[in-house]
Amino acid sequence: MSVTVVGSLNEDLVVTVDRLPGRGETVVGSAVALLPGGKGANQASAAGRLGRGVHMVGRVGDDPAAGRQLAALADCGVNVGRVQRTPGAPTGSATIPVEARGGENLIVVVPGANAALTPADVDVESVHRAGVLLLQLETPLETVRAAVAATGGTVVLNPAPPQPLPAELLAEVDVLVPNEPELRALSGVPDGDDSPAALVALARAVGSGDVVVTLGGRGALVVPAGGPALLQAPPPVDAVDTTGAGDCFCGALSSALDRGADLAAAVRYAVTAAALSTTGPGARGALPDDDAVQALLD
Ligand code: ADP
Repeated sequence: MSVTVVGSLNEDLVVTVDRLPGRGETVVGSAVALLPGGKGANQASAAGRLGRGVHMVGRVGDDPAAGRQLAALADCGVNVGRVQRTPGAPTGSATIPVEARGGENLIVVVPGANAALTPADVDVESVHRAGVLLLQLETPLETVRAAVAATGGTVVLNPAPPQPLPAELLAEVDVLVPNEPELRALSGVPDGDDSPAALVALARAVGSGDVVVTLGGRGALVVPAGGPALLQAPPPVDAVDTTGAGDCFCGALSSALDRGADLAAAVRYAVTAAALSTTGPGARGALPDDDAVQALLD
């Protein structure tokens, strides 16, 4: 089988500053980096690096950034045959000033070609025949819904960035993977008790299938539809940059499910892969391969 990701591709412009600018203010940055990004492409890259056959379905523009994004995905072993170029549109982008000390940031996203991904674009064999279909919410919701309706595979949805979701869509999701803020946004309970028991209750109220809540350095909470919940702690690592940890988690979880792992084993694999991804810079700077994950699991 294989993992198919329907989602976004962005180019991230990351600028290091001492202090974020205020309204109307100019500050001088000390470094600039052009990095591949977008939740969809990050998740596909993680699964590709782990060695699964991965197909990406998405759209880029007709600008130089498009070629860079396709090359970065192919470099991780991702099949990009269903990523289409969109005449007249820019490739999606995110401009991110980051404070050198503390990592406080601002993000301006321009969806560009991602906004042009249509239901017709996902009516393709790689979606129909996927073992696991992995989606996020950086492409139009009607396209997400069309992909879910078209697939025969296990549907994994990372509801990010958060937005209200129709109950009919949630009912078709096999594994919902929110982080805590996304779970709270979906549940309509903005803050409160963050104990595992309280989060399990929120997860059961939101999802009709299995739910996996990622909890940063605490690991992930597995909430199976019909069984007891468990908290999976990460292995000890020296985390230096947690950007994109959730994306690595979703790619790794889908990769393990596609290989036939049960939910608890897939979460153990994903927690380990995501922990390793925090040991290097940026969203894709430290994506592990399968050998590195297995070495920590054995
Ligand atoms: P997001 O990146 O969407 O905010 P999280 O912060 O919950 O998501 O991180 C996703 C996963 O990455 C966690 O469930 C965990 O497995 C791993 N992770 C994140 N931060 C750390 C950390 N400091 N140490 C080890 N693992 C981490």
